[in-house]
Amino acid sequence: MPDALPLQVLAGLAGLVGLLIGSFLNVVIYRLPKMMEQQWARECAELADMSLASPELPNVNGPAEAFNLLVPRSRCSHCGHAISWYENIPVLSYLFLKGRCSVCKAPYGLRYPVIELATGLLFAFCFWRWGNSVEALAWCGFSAALLVLAVIDWDTTLLPDDITLTLLWAGLVVAALQWNPAVRLADALWGAVAGYVSLWLVYWAFKLLTGSGSPHWPWTAEHWVARAASGKEGMGYGDFKLFAALGAWFGWTALVPIVLMASVIGAVVGIGMKFSSGLREGGYVPFGPFLAGAGFTAMIFGPQSILRFIGL
Ligand SMILES: [Zn+2]
Repeated sequence: MPDALPLQVLAGLAGLVGLLIGSFLNVVIYRLPKMMEQQWARECAELADMSLASPELPNVNGPAEAFNLLVPRSRCSHCGHAISWYENIPVLSYLFLKGRCSVCKAPYGLRYPVIELATGLLFAFCFWRWGNSVEALAWCGFSAALLVLAVIDWDTTLLPDDITLTLLWAGLVVAALQWNPAVRLADALWGAVAGYVSLWLVYWAFKLLTGSGSPHWPWTAEHWVARAASGKEGMGYGDFKLFAALGAWFGWTALVPIVLMASVIGAVVGIGMKFSSGLREGGYVPFGPFLAGAGFTAMIFGPQSILRFIGL
């Protein structure tokens, strides 16, 4: 793109591309957890040395139908109608079809256009803020990954390694190439290390002190109880990896502000959900979406601005 392109036009174009990418992110959000489940089922079956023809494990063995981010085509989950390209135009198709399947009129979730719109706005912001630069592109990638992680974690309480670890490596590479002049490679490296180790230490310290249960977030007592009650261990330590990734992107100095912001967001949402009695079964609320929220705040307003928001 020529340098002379006015910033507004550049941001507008980036926003349009963002809408299309957002449409793909919807696919990732819907399919990646299912792909992971299939993979686990496969591995479990192998470990248990079960018969390949076990009827209890459909879709696991044999010539399974291809199911990945590209195939099969998106379908209406209600009637199976294959969604054509003109029914798949970000936001517009949703408005035109009034949020319903064109065949069976089953309602589609409002989430699809919201995620498309959010991606478009984030991409537009990145190019408006950083101009026609590789830095803007890097932050677009950061935004897309963070958005997907937040929604998948909210839905499934999983933070896929494929995304958290890629985000972590990408943060280190961006620092090494000096695409982000604000963060030196050493700061990014120590950010990643300190991000992971700090949460790991807190987690194990709490486990040793209490002798049982599986706390997650010692800074909101509600989380200890909820997490312990739900019986979910910090399975793959996804939160640690996400925090490490944020450390790589913003440097170690941003870690304390980010965790404070995430806790504030988490507390507000937690209280809100309690009052609207929207607390899910087991009361467990994943922390990843709040870490992601803090990551977006750090990207948009700067990592230290969080301290001003919460009056420090
Ligand atoms: Zn339908």
